[in-house]
Amino acid sequence: MSILVQKFGGTSVATPAKILAAAGRAVAAKRAGNQVVVVVSARGHKTDELIELAREITDTPPAREMDMLLSTGEQESVALLAMAVQKLGEQAISMTGAQIGIVTDSTHTKARIRSISTERMRQALEAGKIVIAAGFQGIDDQFNITTLGRGGSDTTAVALAAVLKAAVCEIYTDVEGVFTTDPRLVPEARKIPRVSYDDILELSSLGAGVMHSRSIEFAKKYRVPVLVRPAYSDGEGTLIAPYGDDEDVVTGAALAKSEARVSLWDIPDRPGVMSLIFTKMAERKIPIDMVVQNVGAHGLANVSFTVEQDELAETLTAAQQAVEVLGSGTVQHGTNLSKVSVVGSGMQTHTGVAAQMFAALASAGVNIGMITTSDIKISVLVDRAQAETALQAVHAGFDLHREQPALPALGVQQPDDESDESEKAREERARDVVSRLASMEDIVVSQVEFDNDQSLVALRGLADVPGVAAAVFAANARAGVMVDVIVQNVSQSGHSHISFTVPREALDKSIEATRTAAAQWSGAELSHERDIAKLSVLGIGLRTHTGVGEKMFRALADAGVNVKMISTSEVRISTVVDRAHGEAAYKCLMATFGLKTK
Ligand code: ADP
Ligand code: ASP
Ligand code: MG
Repeated sequence: MSILVQKFGGTSVATPAKILAAAGRAVAAKRAGNQVVVVVSARGHKTDELIELAREITDTPPAREMDMLLSTGEQESVALLAMAVQKLGEQAISMTGAQIGIVTDSTHTKARIRSISTERMRQALEAGKIVIAAGFQGIDDQFNITTLGRGGSDTTAVALAAVLKAAVCEIYTDVEGVFTTDPRLVPEARKIPRVSYDDILELSSLGAGVMHSRSIEFAKKYRVPVLVRPAYSDGEGTLIAPYGDDEDVVTGAALAKSEARVSLWDIPDRPGVMSLIFTKMAERKIPIDMVVQNVGAHGLANVSFTVEQDELAETLTAAQQAVEVLGSGTVQHGTNLSKVSVVGSGMQTHTGVAAQMFAALASAGVNIGMITTSDIKISVLVDRAQAETALQAVHAGFDLHREQPALPALGVQQPDDESDESEKAREERARDVVSRLASMEDIVVSQVEFDNDQSLVALRGLADVPGVAAAVFAANARAGVMVDVIVQNVSQSGHSHISFTVPREALDKSIEATRTAAAQWSGAELSHERDIAKLSVLGIGLRTHTGVGEKMFRALADAGVNVKMISTSEVRISTVVDRAHGEAAYKCLMATFGLKTK
């Protein structure tokens, strides 16, 4: 008998009628011959209300008590849903995280799952009961109640589906499925029939609130098909599976509205600096994004990165500590910023995607504060006042509202044999790493990639006005140059500084195109480095787990390798180094992550 996991979000169990409707779905699935586990969130705005209640008592609620409080929201839901199922004539049993045996670490309010015991759930299922499990919560090894972070019921659901080897995990929510962007912000957004694990992992990590990004880590690691569906209708929803829809170059756009920028100005330019910054942030479990490093005046460097606004105060403390250890530099920050990103696995093989995004922003008059790219995403930092304009411009710029041709039927598509040979090998490796994990949410690092044939182009002293990046990358796209990693930052003097990598064979063409484009701004300085190498660590959950960057940059620092550029994403952290250091850096990363060189 196959096992089905169904998860109902807060809005989908907000009222007695909705609870009965959710129960009706579970009962129907059971009667169709499945064993059914239902995961439920707190009703409606219950979690927000509980947080508000705590704040009325104290500004600094102890995290342990916060978890004790917040877990009650889900406990209420499971009891009510179990009653509803029984009223509809099937047997049901509600269980808290502790009763199931969801064991987490002790990081209150953002705990990670270590293990889940399936015994109690299986006994109940074998006895013909529908198991109603509380989402979002677990218990640590000292029996303290923990919670997984806002939106964490998705993670409970996919994790249960993984350990129970469920046929599918259905996520019932208040929209038709996964859209090209948040339909509440961009009404033209289109529902996507099928999306790959990598694309939705990036989208959710970059702000698409529809799925908790950690739930997708579980889905990808343990190969769980996830179906995101409306709770209020029979809509088909969106299938999240290993492969998305091949037609799309850009799958979707996401907005992280409340971001802040932290800059360390005039710090030393030597190996170990990045390592120290990543270590200081990892000590506090603060995930950073959009890391940009520029070489400044007098051999000093500037490093900027973004964090969620909520984490700014702690980040500034950590950054100050880093500057003290380095012995020079100052910490500055910017607030009221937002990050707009586009994501799509198809970008890897198409030129001009970045140019198209920057052109859309330029025509909407949006100034870009920072840019970073990875293989399957491009992010820009903009003023928060322009965030929604920027998101809409990008969505329209890529015609994301338009139906894609010839959509394949829903189903988990397997890679076809020829084109995805290396993809299959990669999956094998990932599976092997997953099978050796000590704890379920441990990070997976499955591979290090090494590209010795790149060059770097840098443009300094550009005017900080809309349209600069658009012009530079349009010129490169017209010249047919496949630009790889792009970073842009604004310097202390208010000038914008763009660096990017290109294949070495395209360097001369790129220099020519870039020089012509830059001629329209006086004072722009063009430089290049012909011999650089790019190293990428591949895996799952790499950015938000903070430990990977820390380990990677410490290893490079210990090997005396100076890091020139960084690009972070959930599935890949890349760094650009001198070509002379490439080989050594590759070997050192392979050893650091316990991988064998071929
Ligand atoms: P639930 O309570 O069911 O977990 P959430 O509020 O967490 O629901 O997630 C659903 C919401 O996510 C939608 O109402 C929508 O506004 C928002 N959202 C953000 N990005 C997307 C997207 N790309 N596709 C669909 N919904 C999105
Ligand atoms: N109730 C929790 C929250 O609002 C968990 C969830 O809904 O997924 O964050
Ligand atoms: Mg949610």
